[in-house]
Amino acid sequence: MTTQRNGGVGVRFGRRRLFQLGGVSTAAVLLGTGAITTDRSYAAPTFGTDPFSLGVASGDPLPDSVVLWTRLAPDPLAEDGHGGMPSRPVRVHWEVADDENFRHVVRRGSVAATPELAHSVHAEVHGLRPGREYFYRFRAGREHSPVGRTKTAPAFGAPLSSLTFAFASCQAWHDGFYTGYRHMAAEDLDLIVHLGDYIYEYGIPADGGNRGIAVPDYFAEEAVSLKRYRTQYGLYKSDPDLQAAHAVAPWIVTLDDHEVENGWAGDVPEKDTPTPTQPEFLERRASAFRAYYEHLPLRSTALPTGPDMRLYRRFTYGDLAEFSLLDTRQYRDPILDDGDDPARLDPERTLTGDEQERWLLDGMAASRARWNVLAQQVRVAQFDHGSETDPDLPHDGWEGLGRDCWDAYAASRDRIFGGIAERGVSNPVVLTGDWHRNLVADIKADYADPDSATLASELVGTSISSGGDGQDIDNLGRAGLIVNPHVKFYNIQRGYVTCRLDAEQWISDFKVLPQVTTPDAPVSTRATYVMENGRPGAEPA
Ligand code: FE
Ligand code: CA
Repeated sequence: MTTQRNGGVGVRFGRRRLFQLGGVSTAAVLLGTGAITTDRSYAAPTFGTDPFSLGVASGDPLPDSVVLWTRLAPDPLAEDGHGGMPSRPVRVHWEVADDENFRHVVRRGSVAATPELAHSVHAEVHGLRPGREYFYRFRAGREHSPVGRTKTAPAFGAPLSSLTFAFASCQAWHDGFYTGYRHMAAEDLDLIVHLGDYIYEYGIPADGGNRGIAVPDYFAEEAVSLKRYRTQYGLYKSDPDLQAAHAVAPWIVTLDDHEVENGWAGDVPEKDTPTPTQPEFLERRASAFRAYYEHLPLRSTALPTGPDMRLYRRFTYGDLAEFSLLDTRQYRDPILDDGDDPARLDPERTLTGDEQERWLLDGMAASRARWNVLAQQVRVAQFDHGSETDPDLPHDGWEGLGRDCWDAYAASRDRIFGGIAERGVSNPVVLTGDWHRNLVADIKADYADPDSATLASELVGTSISSGGDGQDIDNLGRAGLIVNPHVKFYNIQRGYVTCRLDAEQWISDFKVLPQVTTPDAPVSTRATYVMENGRPGAEPA
């Protein structure tokens, strides 16, 4: 057994904001990686109620390392955003074991949970073995957390026969229950990928919207301040089904717009916003990013510096799969008012920013993996919503191309997917969230020519709860499947997607629920699509 201990670092916290702090030792403490004081209230805190009310999580799996997450919050809905914790650091112990009963503990250590980071814990555990299942738990004072299960990635480049993972997005709490996560938690998964809209910034009515669960009055206000973002996470993460999904497998996450506000783009807020000036918006973005970091199993590399956060990163699963997680919000040019604006073709416009584009293409060129995954936010394949001028294709008021997705950044799309083709990247697959719809589509060299090359396959996953119950198909889908021949599947029920892959095939099960506005709905597989190695494009199984 190996024991990790942290050295003592004496630090006094002032009123300065986190992003104004510079010293390395201070940062180490804020990250929850340093000991602070021998004060009894630090080493042996007491709690009136369970401080692990938000569950446990693990994430960012590497062959020898995972990050373990929790947040001490005996009162997660406390209006001040402190979760019922005092404004001083508290020591949190963690253990990692081979077995669920912790008979064989392989790593243990402790970190300081600090008020600056809402008493969140991000313990980066090293020295683990590749491709192995582990169990973990936390202790603060006399209180123990639930036990979580995690799994390291296989050794870099090593032969890997199969991988099973699920991906999900868009979980507006007030729109419905997270029953999909309960079903996901019952699957045997190596990994869970979250593509954004983990929270929505919107105010929540006192009756809890579709859930009919009363929330304190202050939830009616949209999240703008750090304390309000924190209470939003406190509410969302109190959900037992979400906690169950976090506890069964490591997650890799990226954010979309609603973790900050609807439709933001780079330094530009949405039109109708409580934070219209750039300084106001960037302060809001800093608060939103910090609360996001505090509540997700992210490594210290993602710790925000003010309004900036490095979220794009890469995970490799042996020789089988490599995941490039993108951030298509922080570095993008403004969205368009009209999806058909010719500006969408402007070669200067970017969705990823130049640096991320280079990182993506260089990384994909160097990959040795069989399947190369872009896990990202918004739809890549063109989707013409149709036109009011065609009476045979009613489409419920939608028109033209998307304003917010890759259609509005066509040159960016051409550079990246043309670049992937030029580099001969093996089996590129795009995973997408945001749209609250299931979609299977070919990413084409030329959408006007159905016979042009298929450059990659795209799987768009529906929402967990956003949009309420949904339905099998709507008029937009009926029209869209005709107008867009490269789109093969469309569905707008709630759920998630489970992917099973080996060297020859990638099988995607689109899991849906009949409703999310009442709890306990069953799950079923609405459609299964298969991709074959070396042949771009998914086909029905
Ligand atoms: Fe969404
Ligand atoms: Ca979104």
